[in-house]
Amino acid sequence: MNLKNLKNEVLVQNTKNLIKEENRILANVLAHFQEIETRKLYLELGYGSLFLFAVKELGYKEASAQRRIEAMRFLKKTPEARPMVEKGELNLSNLSLLERVSREAQATHAQSVAALNLIQEEQTSVAEVENKLRGYFKLESKKRVVKIEMDEETYQLWLATKAKLGEAKDASAIKKLCESQVERPQKKVRQAATTRTAGVVLRRELLKQAGHQCQYVGQNGRRCENRHFLQADHKVPYFLGGKTVPQNMRVLCQQHNVHAYQKLKEEKIF
Ligand SMILES: [Zn+2]
Repeated sequence: MNLKNLKNEVLVQNTKNLIKEENRILANVLAHFQEIETRKLYLELGYGSLFLFAVKELGYKEASAQRRIEAMRFLKKTPEARPMVEKGELNLSNLSLLERVSREAQATHAQSVAALNLIQEEQTSVAEVENKLRGYFKLESKKRVVKIEMDEETYQLWLATKAKLGEAKDASAIKKLCESQVERPQKKVRQAATTRTAGVVLRRELLKQAGHQCQYVGQNGRRCENRHFLQADHKVPYFLGGKTVPQNMRVLCQQHNVHAYQKLKEEKIF
């Protein structure tokens, strides 16, 4: 299969067709999981659980096996979700999330269906969907576990910081510290237009204007939704005489920054 000669539109259309197929296959795989579980076939084949069967016999990685089993369990109690999976309106992560949250909330069938409609409306990140579901089921918001490795010197510094903040618990000390940083009054620093890098103040202003979202707009008019690793980019590159002033600056995600640079290169701007 040589894709190199395909036209752009054909390449995109083919990919869309394949994804449709992929969604149907996913729904089908989950139906097979369900039947295997009903028959307790994994026991017959010498596995202690469906999970072990999925990992050792089917060759799934542990996390993938777990997600599929959770997804299958949710579909089993909520068959209404199956057509949504086939149509690609409900993905594996959201399905397994629905299973975990509805199980934790001991949701009724009607509640599970309602939750299903709740997350169907918009395509958001898994974390947002989880918050929405936990809100719906009135579950406590999820606690994040953050593991930080630090050297002895930093650790001692941290202990001293906590003592100074008067907080014994790490979480409350971090909160106090972060609040003090975020609410810190902003010093006005003038940005020199002749320096290449946008200073803290200009960067903050640009990010605010951009709504903390990449400002790249594609040929189809679609704006990139990336909100991480945003960079201040010169519209007219600095090395071509572009100034570091708001009018010549925009916020791009790392990928689009590189992409914009490559495009200039392709167009032989420099
Ligand atoms: Zn972007």
